[in-house]
Amino acid sequence: MKKTLRYNYRLSPTPEQEAKLIEFGATARGIWNLLLSENMRRYEHDKTFLFYKDMASLLKELKPFEEFDWIKAFDSAAAQQVARDLETALKNAFSKGRLQRFPKHKISYKKKKLHNDSFRAVNNSNCIRIEDSAISIPKVGKIPLILHRDLASKVKTVTVQYRHGKWECSITQEVECKAAKQVLESITGFDINSKQTVVGSNGFVADNPKFLKQSKQKLNQLQRQLARRNNGSNRWHKTKQRINKLHGKISRQRLDFAHKISRQITNGNDILVFEDLNVKVMQKFNGSMVADNVMGLITQLSKYKTKLEGKLYHEIGRFEKSTGICSECGQRHVLTLNDRNFTCVACRVCQDRDLSAAKSIAATGELDLIAAGIVARVTPVSQQKSASKTKVFELSKFAVGTEKKEAA
Ligand SMILES: [Zn+2]
Repeated sequence: MKKTLRYNYRLSPTPEQEAKLIEFGATARGIWNLLLSENMRRYEHDKTFLFYKDMASLLKELKPFEEFDWIKAFDSAAAQQVARDLETALKNAFSKGRLQRFPKHKISYKKKKLHNDSFRAVNNSNCIRIEDSAISIPKVGKIPLILHRDLASKVKTVTVQYRHGKWECSITQEVECKAAKQVLESITGFDINSKQTVVGSNGFVADNPKFLKQSKQKLNQLQRQLARRNNGSNRWHKTKQRINKLHGKISRQRLDFAHKISRQITNGNDILVFEDLNVKVMQKFNGSMVADNVMGLITQLSKYKTKLEGKLYHEIGRFEKSTGICSECGQRHVLTLNDRNFTCVACRVCQDRDLSAAKSIAATGELDLIAAGIVARVTPVSQQKSASKTKVFELSKFAVGTEKKEAA
């Protein structure tokens, strides 16, 4: 099974290339707005839309006209990608069960260094190559890039974007997943508490890093400074740029942290069980959790990493209670936010609040997976006589069969 992954690389374009990239970003935005206007006009007129094919041929028809020279100067495959994106956006807006709104026109940020346009080039007939730490992009040329990690496979597409004051490109590649592990040797539940610390049922602890807190303090300070400045003045723009840069730093720090933790827990365990964070946010966390969702990022990244490694990721049911359940006997307790430890009223075992929650998440996850027929619990031969507590699971034949059917 193959999975498409996205890797980001830093670009360092020359001034001429930078001008070209800005121009191309603006062109992609222009094409989006043009096609969207045309779609809106048609929809109002006779309730129809242009789909990808129609939009692509419309672009072709426009090219010979002088006033559309700006489309001619653009990479045609990249222009088609804009049409593809718009088609997806239109389809999403009209499909049931989706929350997406009708696509909007894209606005330009005229002030230099605040624009966030992007465009996506496609690797048709090997036109995008990485050689001598430079990436060749159609109609732009060879842009120096920092190849901090080797490519996993051939480049599929490249999206070039100016974000938080830096040029970057994100490259999609197809990566082969490892075959699903037939024998899974460990199951670990993870609890994420209100202090945003990840606690594993195997004793793993990862704290919400201090550097994020520091950066956030700095951000608050700058935001207060911005409020004091005259809106639109030079000094206002200066502060605005510093805020933009800091936002970039925070998001990079957060991503780095989440990648490290998710890699660590994926390597160390065969089955990962998490709570459904959507519900958790509503239940316990305050606003900061939504704005700064490091923990959501960890679950998101663990999900694809387990898939790559042929391991299992599972989220337990939406309203399954996990806090305050004794990990020894299952007795329920009502805890306030300040109770970090509790002693079970039934079996008198004193336990850590987060650890017991993680254990109960693991137990619920185990039951879920067995009930769904995804795994079967087995006792390895070496342990059949000893009373060792290590749990071993086998990917059930039933589940493997259905997976193949889906792929076919
Ligand atoms: Zn108990």
